[in-house]
Amino acid sequence: MNEIVERARAFGETHVAPNAAKWAREGRMQVEALKAAAAEGLLAFQTSKAWGGLEIGFAAKLKLLEVLSRHSFDFAFSLTNTAGCAAHIAQAMPRAVAERYVPAMLKGERFGGSALSEPGVGSDFAGIKTSAVKDGDDWLLTGEKGWITNAAFGDVFITYAQTDPAQGWRGIGCFLVDGRREGFRRSNAEALGGGGVIGAGGFQLIDYRVRADEVVAPPGQAFRRAMTSVNQARTYVAAMCVAMVDACLDTAIAYGKARQAFGAPLSAKQGWRWMAADVATDAEAARLLVAKAADLIVRGEDAALASAHAKKFATRMACQRISDACQLMGAAGLREDYPFLRHLASARVASYTDGSTEMQNERIAAIVIG
Ligand SMILES: Cc1cc2nc3c(=O)[nH]c(=O)nc-3n(C[C@H](O)[C@H](O)[C@H](O)COP(=O)(O)OP(=O)(O)OC[C@H]3O[C@@H](n4cnc5c(N)ncnc54)[C@H](O)[C@@H]3O)c2cc1C
Repeated sequence: MNEIVERARAFGETHVAPNAAKWAREGRMQVEALKAAAAEGLLAFQTSKAWGGLEIGFAAKLKLLEVLSRHSFDFAFSLTNTAGCAAHIAQAMPRAVAERYVPAMLKGERFGGSALSEPGVGSDFAGIKTSAVKDGDDWLLTGEKGWITNAAFGDVFITYAQTDPAQGWRGIGCFLVDGRREGFRRSNAEALGGGGVIGAGGFQLIDYRVRADEVVAPPGQAFRRAMTSVNQARTYVAAMCVAMVDACLDTAIAYGKARQAFGAPLSAKQGWRWMAADVATDAEAARLLVAKAADLIVRGEDAALASAHAKKFATRMACQRISDACQLMGAAGLREDYPFLRHLASARVASYTDGSTEMQNERIAAIVIG
């Protein structure tokens, strides 16, 4: 196993597990924890070696996110958004531009992510309203982004904007936005009943100037770029859901072996055992869907259908089976030092991010039916 995955596992056990309940109670990302992760190299896993990154493959990335998600999906999701943003900037931008962001992001000095969604537009990505208007060689961006992971505290965002509404998806361009510049105004972070550790928030752009060398993908290419990278995101979100279910089942089994009822351990009761067995079967089915999608991605093949299957099944499965695993615990499952309710909220979050369950169905139907 990749050494960085073992480091992530150790970090998860020493830093994330003991704090996850407190972070969830406070409902906000702990930037100090991300900085500690950066010190362990955990923000550099995806960035190319030319930039001091580790450039691990997709299979190792899945493992890394799984070992962290056992303790906190939200922390892992926030972490991978900054890590992915840094890697994309390193790969897609001119060196002089990347110099301004990549080293700082790998060190945990700046955080970021991808900004597609807006307060009025989520699933209908081609309908985004944030505009990009040419000004000489530069672009001026105006509009508002909402529900953006890490926007509560981050300030480097790969941002999508419409250059020509008449062109629909073909008019969408992709731009690098620096939250420390004029024209960027952070909105209040979302106050959530669960999932607040992700740091979802928004920002306004008011004639925000993107210099010519800060265009990540021009109109015509940006939409396709987003659709291609989303297959990877769907697959790792599905894997993270399986990890949460595994963690909940392990916790319930340990509890059920120790807790006595009617003169025997709970784990000796057939009804209890069968519910645990159903959780295990569904987790295994999701794991195999993830493995298929991941294998296609690693081999550079089309993973659109496989990743949509994996994400739809894994997120639905997690919502149901985390709840079932909590049932196995009785009232104790509700205690905050157990992961059940936190993981349930995160499974709800996973049902929306990178395309809702219904959007997975749209994708699957388009491929299967035509
Ligand atoms: C914690 C969190 C973090 C997020 N992070 C990011 C981020 O980093 N970057 C980013 O860009 N976005 C992010 N999102 C936004 C996420 O991508 C959107 O929530 C998602 O695309 C769904 O959009 P919506 O919530 O506006 O729902 P809507 O699009 O308003 O849809 C509402 C409901 O109707 C359903 N629906 C919509 N259209 C159809 C249809 N045609 N047929 C059937 N059903 C339909 C949807 O599936 C959904 O269930 C995040 C969301 C959350 C909760």
